[in-house]
Amino acid sequence: MAFVYQNNTLYAEDCNLNDLAKKFGTPLYVYSKAQFLKNFHAIDDAFAEIEHQVCFAVKSNSNLAVLNLLAQNGSGFDIVSGGELARVLKAGGDASKIVFSGLGKTEQDIEVALNAGIACFNVESYRELTRINQVASRLNKIAPISLRVNPDVDAQTHPYISTGLKENKFGIAHDDALDTYRYAASLSNLEIIGIDCHIGSQLLDTQPFVDALIKLEQMIDELKAIGITLKHIDIGGGLGVQYKDEQPATPKQYADAMMPILQRLGLKVYLEPGRLISATAGVLLTQVDILKPTHHRNFAIVDAAMNDLIRPALYQSWMDVKAVNQSQANEVKTWDIVGAICETGDFLAKDRDLALQEKDLLAIMGAGAYSFVMSSNYNTRGRAAEVMVDGEQVHLVRERESLEQLWQYEHLLP
Ligand SMILES: *Cc1c(COP(=O)(O)O)cnc(C)c1O
Repeated sequence: MAFVYQNNTLYAEDCNLNDLAKKFGTPLYVYSKAQFLKNFHAIDDAFAEIEHQVCFAVKSNSNLAVLNLLAQNGSGFDIVSGGELARVLKAGGDASKIVFSGLGKTEQDIEVALNAGIACFNVESYRELTRINQVASRLNKIAPISLRVNPDVDAQTHPYISTGLKENKFGIAHDDALDTYRYAASLSNLEIIGIDCHIGSQLLDTQPFVDALIKLEQMIDELKAIGITLKHIDIGGGLGVQYKDEQPATPKQYADAMMPILQRLGLKVYLEPGRLISATAGVLLTQVDILKPTHHRNFAIVDAAMNDLIRPALYQSWMDVKAVNQSQANEVKTWDIVGAICETGDFLAKDRDLALQEKDLLAIMGAGAYSFVMSSNYNTRGRAAEVMVDGEQVHLVRERESLEQLWQYEHLLP
């Protein structure tokens, strides 16, 4: 693992986190190049025996340096907006390894993606088919498409990150999929090349994935029967990571569970992991500002807040908090680690047993995914800087926002 203690001090690879805090200030996102690559290769290698393409889910961490690193190592990308497409291309990503997911692709997004030559549009509605067909015919192009089928399986995860149930807004209901494929086949500027599903995020067991895959396999057979043959199957992302004491299936166990069906299908396999690659490759470094013990609870007010990291507030996520310097000197108490934002929901962690003093540095673990990307300027707070370590070296990959930058797009009335 990239973030471990050496002589009671927490390191990122071979960089002392105290030194990084001194050099770049806090709050600070610290990423590990080695951990990104390790996580990427774990899933890529697990599928080595079949033709496959890993498409990193850009929404989990879209820093250009991260995208560039993964692109250089063979990763493709799963994007959900025109903005993400532009980012991937800017970072040197290969358009022919991009799959475009998401419910609301605009005509402009579609045009840019067609001109770039992406691998596939993962289509989420009937209406989207007509829109893509229209844009493609105007450009005199053929758009490669796949339908995102909603298999109606319970991912057994947090409701906000569960996407594969029929009441969710995502995908095309399993029962409507065949008709929708038939309709797609009738549109002259579309080429049907695949099928896809993504049932949710932070899944721990392989069973929901297998259940979804069985449904897709049946659908592929039904499609064959009506003369529609596919080139690929996209099994989405969603495999979870350990934040606390969860025991997620490993990439190898996941691959082993899926492999019999995938081999029987004999199609190219696309994967869209996000969190699995990025979560454990980052921490958020924050400094204790004020300690506020009360009769009811002990609050440690730190310099990071929900604008920097909203996962605890938004999903009640439990993220591990480690003291950068382990000392036995102070008394251990139970603390709520909170930001200074005027919201009761602004907390990073609750009920943590720590020996804290003002100015102590804390590392919020597992903050490489859905963390910086969800940050905001709420309470007129500039977003944190991001650095990536590589052994003993550290590279600034995003500068801290200055206050002037926060209002640079605003204007007074004349
Ligand atoms: C968010 C998302 C992913 C990635 O999910 P993770 O849980 O981060 O692996 C993959 N595919 C689609 C369509 C998504 O929306």
